[in-house]
Amino acid sequence: MLSIEGLSKRYGNGHLALSGIDLEVRPGEILGIVGGSGCGKSTLLRVVSGLEAPTAGRVVLNGAEVRSPRDEIGFVFQEPRLMPWLSIRANVAFGIRHLPKAERNARTDEALARVGLDRFADAWPRELSGGMAQRAALARALVGRPSVLLLDEPFSALDALTRYDLQDHLLELWSYDRPTMVLVTHDIEEALVLSDRVVVMQPGPGRIQTVAAPALPRPRERTDPLFEDWKHRLLGELSRAFRDRHPGEEAFPAAAI
Ligand code: ADP
Ligand code: MG
Repeated sequence: MLSIEGLSKRYGNGHLALSGIDLEVRPGEILGIVGGSGCGKSTLLRVVSGLEAPTAGRVVLNGAEVRSPRDEIGFVFQEPRLMPWLSIRANVAFGIRHLPKAERNARTDEALARVGLDRFADAWPRELSGGMAQRAALARALVGRPSVLLLDEPFSALDALTRYDLQDHLLELWSYDRPTMVLVTHDIEEALVLSDRVVVMQPGPGRIQTVAAPALPRPRERTDPLFEDWKHRLLGELSRAFRDRHPGEEAFPAAAI
């Protein structure tokens, strides 16, 4: 169980990015987090991962407080962040370089095969397309066999078809070990395709506005009328979160959705 208890974060410059976040994420659950830009989504993930210390509150994973990064918690960023001077294989193996060689190789091969990059193990990052590079980033996050996988807008820099493909692929990867996943996205559809529950965040300071549990069968179908209903509901929540903060302005220009 991943518990986020009374979490607040004030940055050194005095900016209050998060206030009073309480969340319990069940083992194996896929939790989506949506919210406008600047509402503290990345801050929340960084605090949960132990990369950033909270100002108040705490993060508890299976009974132990998280105070620093650990193998148990994997992280996927918006950009692949591969090291250009290392092969794909070496990038994926980097986080488990403390393991014995045989174990390290076996795990790296497995992770590369799972993301469909076994043929590119010896390639350089610059030789990969955006989607393939993000698959490598997924392999790097999974090779440590994390029980929690945190994803910060992992597909938002990709074109729509690649994004759909990787969303499906993420569910396949999840099905092997069923890690708890916390997925930050500003794409409501992506949240609905993947998540068991969707948290809508409110800006200024970042707070939880609503937690929705869409009762949609899996696999989720974007064209299902129920899916559309949920999309509109969440869009309404997001607009409300924005309006409360910026009265009179339009939350999301139609083109942004
Ligand atoms: P999101 O990921 O939802 O776009 P962030 O968590 O990146 O939001 O940022 C939340 C707020 O905190 C923003 O107003 C941002 O400008 C501010 N912020 C983020 N990182 C820092 C930092 N290191 N120092 C000061 N303010 C920051
Ligand atoms: Mg962010």
